[in-house]
Amino acid sequence: MRPVRRGDSPIAGDYADYKTAKTDLIARIASGKHNGQHIAAYCSYCERKIDTNLAVEHIEPKKGAHGKPELKGRWSNFLLACVNCNSTKGDKRVVLDQLYLPDRDNTALAFQYQADGQMVAAVTLNDVEKDIAENTLALLGLDKAMQNSRDEQGALIAQDRVAQRMQVWSMAEDSLEDYQNHIENSSVMGLIVKLMVSSGFFSVWMTVFKDYPELKIKFVEAVSGGLESGCYDHITAEKLSPHPNEDGLEGGGKI
Ligand SMILES: [Zn+2]
Repeated sequence: MRPVRRGDSPIAGDYADYKTAKTDLIARIASGKHNGQHIAAYCSYCERKIDTNLAVEHIEPKKGAHGKPELKGRWSNFLLACVNCNSTKGDKRVVLDQLYLPDRDNTALAFQYQADGQMVAAVTLNDVEKDIAENTLALLGLDKAMQNSRDEQGALIAQDRVAQRMQVWSMAEDSLEDYQNHIENSSVMGLIVKLMVSSGFFSVWMTVFKDYPELKIKFVEAVSGGLESGCYDHITAEKLSPHPNEDGLEGGGKI
């Protein structure tokens, strides 16, 4: 769950139809670029690449028992989510102080990613922070183990977020080996950045390439909202804490 900054609303007042905010949201917080061209968009929560069905997601639900209909068209209440994250979160109660959100917290510090596809609370967190990270994973179903993962021949089917993350992890590890074997070759570096953009799961690539700041900063630059978040050093891509929350979002800057 990479940190982003949504910035000021592109329009005055609220959106009459929240779905029309999608293009602006993709440009600000979800676009993956290659040679300056938008070539991919990602879920704000699980980071998978979404070709279709990327939905404008209401952080605080727009309806239901805990709904805030007054925020239905509010720019500051929008992210973009895949069908799994969006439907798992549903209309559940959202307590902003008890969640890490990518538009206001440095979510790169809150979670860690494993080769088995699991996304877990970072081991560096204290007990209070760990509870918040786990609340977040539970709200989105990102704590679930892999489902429906093998076909009849035993091959992995990337039907869910865990399986897809695992496949991208293995792709990133292959790329790391290519990089180590061609460390002076800028076209290999360019191809790896392009592969990161086109496969999604930014945080997996950042984890696998953790010892290579020259690649990490290119990954951060290739996705919208990353440098703007203020959560990465502009040269080394080192994680900076807390998210500066320059838009003053409620409950933000916890990490
Ligand atoms: Zn998702």
